[in-house]
Amino acid sequence: MEHNKIILVTIISFMFLFQNIQGWGTDGHAITCKIAQSRLSDTAAAAVKKLLPDYAQNDLSSVCSWADRVKFYLKWSSALHFADTPPKLCTFQYDRDCKDLNGVKDRCVVGAINNYTTQLLDYGKDTKYNLTQALLFLSHFMGDVHQPLHTGFTTDKGGNLIDVHWFTRKQNLHHVWDANIIETAEERFYDTNIDKYISAIQENITKTWSDEVAGWEACSSNKTTCPDIYASEGIKAACQWAYKDAPEDSVLEDDYFLSRLPIVSLRLAEGGVRLAATLNRIFQ
Ligand SMILES: [Zn+2]
Repeated sequence: MEHNKIILVTIISFMFLFQNIQGWGTDGHAITCKIAQSRLSDTAAAAVKKLLPDYAQNDLSSVCSWADRVKFYLKWSSALHFADTPPKLCTFQYDRDCKDLNGVKDRCVVGAINNYTTQLLDYGKDTKYNLTQALLFLSHFMGDVHQPLHTGFTTDKGGNLIDVHWFTRKQNLHHVWDANIIETAEERFYDTNIDKYISAIQENITKTWSDEVAGWEACSSNKTTCPDIYASEGIKAACQWAYKDAPEDSVLEDDYFLSRLPIVSLRLAEGGVRLAATLNRIFQ
C-alpha cells in the first residue's frame, strides 16, 4: 500500500473505533434526527435538503453522528457536546455552567445550540459561515442536550467515571445512557430493528404525549430555540433517574433498565420534536 492509503485506512479505523465514545450512540442520534426530519415544514425540508452533503442522500439521520466522528481532529469541538454542572445541585445555570475546562464562556452544548442556530439564520444571505456544518452540529447537539448525562456532574464527567455492570458486562454509567439502554430495548422489544423502535416512539408522540408536544416545541419570548430549558430538564432527569441507584460498582439489571427506558424514549422524542421545531423556526 502506498503511504497515503495507509494513513487513510488508519484514520478511518480510528473513526470507527472512537465514534461511540460520547453522545447518544449512533442509534440515539439517528432516532432524534429521523423524528425531526419527519416533522419539518416544506420550507425547512427544502433548506435541509439543500444543505445536506450529497452523500447523505437527503437523510439527516445518516449524518447525525458526524460531530462525534470529527471530534478527534476538530479538537475545539469536543467541549461542545455537553454541559456538566457542579455535583448534587441538579440545576443548570448558563452563566455558572456553560464554559469549557479552561473557563472559556459559551463553550458547552447549550452555547453551541444557540451559536449554530444563529449561524443558520443566515441561510439565503451572503454568509461567512459553513451552513452545512452548522446544520450537522445543531442536529447532533440537540440530541446530546437531551441525553441526561450530557448535563451530568463535572466531578464524574457526566457518569464517565462511574464504573458499573450493565447486566453481566463492565460499562460506565455514561455509556449505559448513550447506548446500552437503547440497544437492549431494540434487542428485547423491537427485533433489533431501529425503525421499529422509532415507529413506537412516533406513535407515543401522536398518542400518549400528544398533549405535551406543543409545550416541548414552545420557546418563551419568541426565541428560535431554548436549550437552557432542555439542559435544565436534563440535569433534573440525571439526578432523578440516571445517577439514582447507580453508584460505583453497582450491577444494573431489569429494575434499572425497565424503569429508565421510558425516560430515554421520552428524551429521544423531545429531542426530535425540538430539533424540528427549531429548524422550522429558522427556515420560515
Ligand atoms: Zn455528541
